[in-house]
Amino acid sequence: MGFEPERTAAVEAVRGAARACEEMRKSGAFSRALEKTDGSPVTLADFFVQAAINCDLASAFPDIPVAAEESSACLEDGAGELLESLRGLLPGKSEADVLRAVDGGSHGGGAGRFWTLDPVDGTKGFLADRQYAVALALIEDGEAVVGVLGCPRLGGGNGSLFFAEKGLGAYQTSLAGGPAARISVSGVRRARDAVMCESAEPSHSSRGHSERIAGLLGMDARPVRIDSQCKYAVVARGDASVYFRLPVEEDYEENIWDHAAGCAVVGEAGGEVTDCAGRPLDFSLGKTLRANRGVVGTNGIIHREVLEAVEKAIGGG
Ligand code: AMP
Ligand code: MG
Repeated sequence: MGFEPERTAAVEAVRGAARACEEMRKSGAFSRALEKTDGSPVTLADFFVQAAINCDLASAFPDIPVAAEESSACLEDGAGELLESLRGLLPGKSEADVLRAVDGGSHGGGAGRFWTLDPVDGTKGFLADRQYAVALALIEDGEAVVGVLGCPRLGGGNGSLFFAEKGLGAYQTSLAGGPAARISVSGVRRARDAVMCESAEPSHSSRGHSERIAGLLGMDARPVRIDSQCKYAVVARGDASVYFRLPVEEDYEENIWDHAAGCAVVGEAGGEVTDCAGRPLDFSLGKTLRANRGVVGTNGIIHREVLEAVEKAIGGG
């Protein structure tokens, strides 16, 4: 069975929200960042995009809940100004409606369908004039079957949008609209010829390990460092052939919304995404990838070769 209605709705929801988000960024209207309990930043833009996409999805598919990064609890304690600004962006909604719009109602899991959403993936990049992405995926029985990445600052003046549907390939189009072109991963056959990408934030992926792996593989090209799931988009369209997310903290569990959309896009573009031990990413265990350790994405052709070097450098465990 295909996912055409879900994919179409997801693309339109991401397109609208990502364009509005970029307008907010350009005008500075996202207000100051708050700090979440884990120390990471969150802005009005994160809450606005999450509420807007949740509302679009709820009206098209009322029975499919959303597991999204932000929580309305964060708006309830001491963020009155932000909540007021958010109400201003969602006209006609009471405070309770706005809080409900932010929460998508799903905790993930292995049975049935849910959406997973990172409203502003790479908030640090968003705040620092670097890359960020609006990332939405549909999970069915633990598998990412639709993935959409809105990348307002990637490629061209209007930004890019990437989408994939299980079995039907991966596509790129302008965030402004227009025709979509099928994309595919690079044809690089030896890891030493590959371009690797990793997080712009050194605390999110170990650069010591990626350097060691690059050395083992004879990869000379300089790593491309980009925030957010734009990295998956860059691998999916063949500009890079390797994505590394090598654990810095031993016990860090990756969030599903940081990988589901990108994983679907790279997979449908012909690439492969696993963890450091070669296991597929398991989206069936709640909000985190607790059965996985790190992430390795490639064009598929060089996946085994890259994993062997990862194993040597850090141990697959
Ligand atoms: P990126 O721009 O690829 O580094 O991805 C940004 C995402 O990294 C954020 O949405 C966070 O959920 C996630 N993140 C935060 N802390 C860590 C960490 N210690 N290790 C890996 N990812 C993290
Ligand atoms: Mg994120």
